[in-house]
Amino acid sequence: MKIVVAKTAGFCMGVRRAVDMVLDASNLSDQPIYTYGPLIHNPQVLQMLEEKNIFRIEKIPPKGTGIVLVRAHGVPSEDEKALKDAGFTVVDATCPRVVRVQVIISKFAKKGYSTIIIGDKKHPEVVGLLGHARGNGHAVTSVEQLAELPGFENAVVVAQTTQNTDFYGEIKNWCKTHAPHYKIFDTICGSTEKRQTEIRKLANSNDAVVVVGGKQSGNTKRLAQIASRAGKVSIHIEDASDIDYEKLSRVRSVAITAGASTPNWIITDTYRKIERHLKQKHPVKAFLFTIRDFLLKTNIMAAAGAGFLTYACSMLQGIPRDFNHALIAMLYVLSMQILNNLFTTKSDKYNHPQRARFYKKHRPYLWTLAVLSGAAGLYFSFITGILSFLILLVMSLLGLSYNLKIIPLISKKRKIARVKDLPGSKTILITIAWGTVTTLLPAIAIQSNLIEVAVVFIFATGLVFARTAFFDILAIQGDRITGKETLPILLGEKQSFNIIRYVLMFDICMLILTFFTHLLVDRAFLLALIPFLMLLLIKFFEKDSLISGAHQEFIIEFSFLAAGLLSAVI
Ligand code: SF4
Repeated sequence: MKIVVAKTAGFCMGVRRAVDMVLDASNLSDQPIYTYGPLIHNPQVLQMLEEKNIFRIEKIPPKGTGIVLVRAHGVPSEDEKALKDAGFTVVDATCPRVVRVQVIISKFAKKGYSTIIIGDKKHPEVVGLLGHARGNGHAVTSVEQLAELPGFENAVVVAQTTQNTDFYGEIKNWCKTHAPHYKIFDTICGSTEKRQTEIRKLANSNDAVVVVGGKQSGNTKRLAQIASRAGKVSIHIEDASDIDYEKLSRVRSVAITAGASTPNWIITDTYRKIERHLKQKHPVKAFLFTIRDFLLKTNIMAAAGAGFLTYACSMLQGIPRDFNHALIAMLYVLSMQILNNLFTTKSDKYNHPQRARFYKKHRPYLWTLAVLSGAAGLYFSFITGILSFLILLVMSLLGLSYNLKIIPLISKKRKIARVKDLPGSKTILITIAWGTVTTLLPAIAIQSNLIEVAVVFIFATGLVFARTAFFDILAIQGDRITGKETLPILLGEKQSFNIIRYVLMFDICMLILTFFTHLLVDRAFLLALIPFLMLLLIKFFEKDSLISGAHQEFIIEFSFLAAGLLSAVI
């Protein structure tokens, strides 16, 4: 059984922008935040906003205070004016592609043209568009309705941005035959077109299509229609609890897609639940996936990666590959990662729903494991030397305090009470902590050459930075919801991918250079294969999201194991 996730599944640019704007307003302002109508058509996102005390205004009151976000679909200009007159600060989150259609309508309405909108007159976007037509707008949903309209002397024809491209093609053909003087504009958004084209292809190459998204969401409903028209099993669900497994019982491949307003965490949860259900039929696969999930959820995979990286870093420096140091790194990383996950179940609810459930269910055991592994790491470092012990102790205390409210500083815009509230702190601190346990502690024990240590430290931190920043990109939606300011949130996904690339390329060049400068052992340059491999993988994942997040995490974590294995054989 094969499961693929459409590359185009999930938030489109306009929805992402609107959600980011409302979350930024909520995280940065002390004023009450509202949305005018539902921000987007997705019940889980609306529930999440309510949990963050962001409520809806359905009717504009005569007086009010606070910030009101105008949704991605846009609103009639008179509503925006009424909100401002009532005393609200209006933040316009209308999607730029919807604004383009509003501008076309306004421009021609001013010249006396009638406006014909191909879309549902009750849909918020169409309501907003009609508001720009100076009272001379008409919304139709079929060729028959279009034919029933009076023949206009001058008219513009536009489509709701999420309209079905095939259907709009029929409308255009009708206009060319019956009203060739009408000005027709291609206003279906590129994101909608790509989503529909992809689902047509996926429906042809798979036995079933699962469409995830709000039942009120027009673009999601259209995706489900396209899939069922292809004659395949088509299931439209709002979340994983709606899946009818009976319908999937005889299929051999499933494609999952999602509407433009469906958040990633619902798609991920759906993928994991279908995967878990289907793998029950294949015991070997089921076993392998269970092991993969267990290693990731418990952080054993990350801890093993730290141990193997320590082994590789020792080889690079030409120092004895002492199992003790690898063990200290493993125990420290295991303890800190579990503690971090125990404190972040709130954001994991969005990023890793299954991990959040796992941590909730096994909380006492995971606390015990974190404390015992932390204590064992300290014990082994004490055996190695007092300096190693003291460094690890300080790092453990720092790691422990990361999520605790200890800093009584108040910045102008937001409270910074914990180390984790410092923008970008997670990525930077994890990178430094890993670099210290994998490189500095082994080097201190035998007092290595400083330059060698510095080069290997840069190499190790480069790999860890790429890993952590990539995972932060995968978790960007949940982190933003919970107000975390990771590097991708501060810099944006594109810029973060660029930085990851530069860091890995720097690692590669630096190791190759050591071959000519004899700065490290001669074979060191061969380890440049690891950042090269990560560079290729991350580039591939960036372009192709048909692979699940769990596979991506596992493969990236495995690169660290590969570093240790490679250093053992070269
Ligand atoms: S579907 Fe297109 S037009 Fe509509 S909100 Fe998304 S990006 Fe904007």
